[in-house]
Amino acid sequence: EVRWVAECASTNSALLDAPPADDGRVHVLVADRQSAGRGRRGRPWLSWDDASLTFSALWRFPPGTPQPAGLSLVAGLALARALERLGVPGVQLKWPNDVLVHGAKLAGILVELLPARGRALTAVIGIGINLRLPADIDLPAAIPVTALDRVLEQPPGHPLPTRSAVLAAVLGELHPLLDIFAAAGFPPLRSAWQQRNAFADLPVCIHGENDTLTGLCAGVDVDGALLLRTGHGVQRVLAGDVSLRPL
Ligand code: ATP
Repeated sequence: EVRWVAECASTNSALLDAPPADDGRVHVLVADRQSAGRGRRGRPWLSWDDASLTFSALWRFPPGTPQPAGLSLVAGLALARALERLGVPGVQLKWPNDVLVHGAKLAGILVELLPARGRALTAVIGIGINLRLPADIDLPAAIPVTALDRVLEQPPGHPLPTRSAVLAAVLGELHPLLDIFAAAGFPPLRSAWQQRNAFADLPVCIHGENDTLTGLCAGVDVDGALLLRTGHGVQRVLAGDVSLRPL
């Protein structure tokens, strides 16, 4: 069920605040414009009317679905596959929730959970994809920013895919991967994620609330936690309140 609105503060907040009835369908909310789009920890996610695609999908998982820790990574993998299918070469994933091309951020993901009712898990998966960037963009970002029109390989003069086409491509990849996740968790998807790991074997630092860890990025484990090879062995880092940055 796809609902497309002209404006909304945040598509994630709208679905979290007023979850649609449980009618067995996946509910998707798309907004032409978000006035208060969010990244992790309340950081802003910017979008530019028809130059961005911003939407959220509310997914009700069956009882018994594994811990949601790997869900951001699964959403990232689905987004990467959709972009590859649309013709974007070199799509990479930055743990835990960003999609990069040539080291610049093309899309971001924000997964939030509804308070559990019984054993069932309900997740809201928010996705923002830059289709074009305004000429005067001045984004105070830690990572450079890019957009689909800069990275898509297609014949000259060919129009960019429409927002509906990009949305359909993403939902088409998300659905089967979330079914796999519901049945078996992150392990069957781990190697596909690692193949696209932007920082595999590269030096990175992990900024936490109170400390910073540095080491080589050694991939992710079966729960989607980051593995960091440090002077004291391999440390496991949970997404929680930390950010990965290249060194
Ligand atoms: P982390 O590694 O912790 O996820 P992050 O900087 O990638 O850090 P997110 O919460 O994923 O943080 O995304 C929010 C950040 O993304 C903002 O602080 C801003 O720097 C950047 N940002 C905001 N809008 C866009 C956009 N349209 N395209 C790319 N980057 C953006």
